[in-house]
Amino acid sequence: MLKFLKMIKLLVANWKANPETLTEAVRLAKNIDYTGVVIAPPFPFLDGVRKVIHKAKLAAQNVFWSDGPYTGEVSANQLKKLGVRYAIIGHSERRRNLNEIDAIINKKVTAALNNSIKPILCVGEGPELHKSGDHSKVLRFIDNQLKLDLHGIRNPRGVIIAYEPIWAIGTGNSDSTEHVSKVVALIKERLGSVSILYGGSVNPNNADKFMSIAGISGALIGGASLKSSEFKKIISISKRY
Ligand code: PEP
Repeated sequence: MLKFLKMIKLLVANWKANPETLTEAVRLAKNIDYTGVVIAPPFPFLDGVRKVIHKAKLAAQNVFWSDGPYTGEVSANQLKKLGVRYAIIGHSERRRNLNEIDAIINKKVTAALNNSIKPILCVGEGPELHKSGDHSKVLRFIDNQLKLDLHGIRNPRGVIIAYEPIWAIGTGNSDSTEHVSKVVALIKERLGSVSILYGGSVNPNNADKFMSIAGISGALIGGASLKSSEFKKIISISKRY
């Protein structure tokens, strides 16, 4: 008898520069240690979190493309040796606040892949483009980010794409399912059957609508991933799919 494997939704907990202490990080990690969860703590807490999780996987929030004389950076090779399985790359907060341009993001994606770390590449339009209401312009913008960020990558299926409209991040204003579906269609048309996450103000009240979008493999979650009661509700919603 043929058995069809159910794909577990991926829920990436992007803690950003939170919490303040390792003790809090460990407590939070233990609370959300479930299959399908990927925890992205700040660098100083990666190893402590690694030691207490059994089912969840570990992600870095950033990665550098080389070992050696790069003060302040952490290389893909070092992260691999630590047991990190995923890396968030090109988050809009880094693009905006640290001038991380597509050429840099492309180097990071390449380095992560070369070190068997799955890149979670963030793409998405800003508030001005969103406000213009010009959907085809939004799609062209995302298409261009994909082209530049994945330049020279022979097998983009090894990359997870996180569609994160910037205006929806941390604002409480999530995107519409219709718009996310259009972006999913564009990404699939360009890259084939890659995994696609939605990110932007996902919470227990709207998780269901995003999990049910065809072609969406999970979510990248900031604020709600720091409250274990909320995050656990999102986990149980994701298990319905
Ligand atoms: C994010 O940081 O990528 C994010 C989606 O944050 P939030 O869930 O808080 O909007």
